[in-house]
Amino acid sequence: MSKLSFDRILQSQGFGTRKYCRELIEDGEVTIQGVVHDNFKALIETKDLVFTVFGEEWTFREHVYLCLNKPANFECSRKPSHHPGVLTLLPEQLAWRDVQPVGRLDHDTTGMLLMSDDGPFIHAQSSPKRHIPKLYVATTAEPVTSDLIEQLLSGVQLHDEPAPLAALRCEKIGDFQLQIVLEQGKYHQVKRMLAAAGNHCSALARTTIGQLSLESLGLEEGEWCYLEPEQLALLV
Ligand code: URA
Repeated sequence: MSKLSFDRILQSQGFGTRKYCRELIEDGEVTIQGVVHDNFKALIETKDLVFTVFGEEWTFREHVYLCLNKPANFECSRKPSHHPGVLTLLPEQLAWRDVQPVGRLDHDTTGMLLMSDDGPFIHAQSSPKRHIPKLYVATTAEPVTSDLIEQLLSGVQLHDEPAPLAALRCEKIGDFQLQIVLEQGKYHQVKRMLAAAGNHCSALARTTIGQLSLESLGLEEGEWCYLEPEQLALLV
């Protein structure tokens, strides 16, 4: 059980500065179970707390874990330079909570992007020591040959890597399409591995992280959802 003052609760959930949250509460814009709570000093139990702000319902979450189906032409960087940032696809409250992408996808890569405001989770999930497999579908400029698949499975040398990098699994799924599972997460890894093997990646989508697939979440491009503990448990 953990109680917090109502203004702190709203602030922790990304509704703005402490001052602004106090104003929201005093103006009667916040309700709990249909009742306006206008005392910002009141201590409120956060466990299972559901409240509304401007009529929209929110559940208290100590941390948020999200999955976004990233469209092309959005940047994962905190300070995007050429395209809008992925945070612009989330409600303002989540951006205020300092939600960050877990690892990065290139601006033109689509698909599964985890996001969170839980630093240790982000760190653990991005750690190369965890070897979390990630499945990508790559469209190629040249036909997918058995030689290409063999090279990707046996390992290709990238110029800044000490040793060849190999795919965990790799399979042809079309004349110009393959599925590749990687567990390293190096910079532009799929594109650079395909280039090193003599092909070119013309489109890339990440479809699964660990045992959690984007398909199972049913997200259209640009949509996001919260990940609940049973889904987080699949990210291994
Ligand atoms: N590999 C790439 O080349 N790009 C990505 O965005 C992800 C993996």
